[in-house]
Amino acid sequence: MLVLENIVTHYGNIQALKGISLKINKGEIVTIIGANGAGKTTTLKTICSLVKPTSGKIFFEGNDITSKHTSDIVEAGIALVPEGRRVFPKMTVMENLSLGAYLNNDRNKIKNDLEKVFDLFPVLKNRLKQVSGTLSGGEQQMLAMGRALMARPKLLLLDEPSMGLAPKIVSNIFDIIQQINSEGTTILLVEQNAQMALSIANKGYVMETGRFVLEDSANTLLNNEEVKKAYLGES
Ligand code: ATP
Repeated sequence: MLVLENIVTHYGNIQALKGISLKINKGEIVTIIGANGAGKTTTLKTICSLVKPTSGKIFFEGNDITSKHTSDIVEAGIALVPEGRRVFPKMTVMENLSLGAYLNNDRNKIKNDLEKVFDLFPVLKNRLKQVSGTLSGGEQQMLAMGRALMARPKLLLLDEPSMGLAPKIVSNIFDIIQQINSEGTTILLVEQNAQMALSIANKGYVMETGRFVLEDSANTLLNNEEVKKAYLGES
């Protein structure tokens, strides 16, 4: 479904991605784990064309989408839930969700999609008129995910959904990610919480300073001694 071939991305003189290649099959949950500053967010931004790669190619469902406009990439079926759950804080929950559906003119479909989002995140249904900036961190994460789902993505990119949330909420969010996946959406999940990410993923990539240093099934990575030491807090 998604192929990255030897992607190099710069910020000015800084080479943030040093030639990465990645493959995601339809229906999978794939995770990229790694420390702060490894280049995980830059990978997602490059896929969405929020930063342009210096070289390399990106294919989505067989089509070259390298450096297409972000709006075309969303239209092709890729949606990003950004790091730090960027909802529009002064807008209501309903307004945020409606923005996610901007590509859709069919009222019935929008209504249907809203119902699906409420099934996943019942708490949002009771908060439709609430200003989003006053939601809790977990609720904002749910809203950011709900907004992305309103674009009906085939591939959902999630940037550190666990960040800053209590363990119980993280566990709830990860259950919902699995549910979204089981309903047919392919997922690329970027996480510092390697344990949680690998526990729900099919495949994982370990990123260090702009490169993938390991790539394997999530299960194998969970049992890899180096991964355990460096990312799972085991000695
Ligand atoms: P984090 O978990 O902190 O977001 P990350 O793995 O997502 O880390 P990136 O945010 O992709 O890492 O950063 C990769 C590298 O690119 C880092 O060295 C970072 O300092 C640098 N970088 C990121 N954004 C910019 C920017 N807008 N301008 C210059 N350098 C940047």
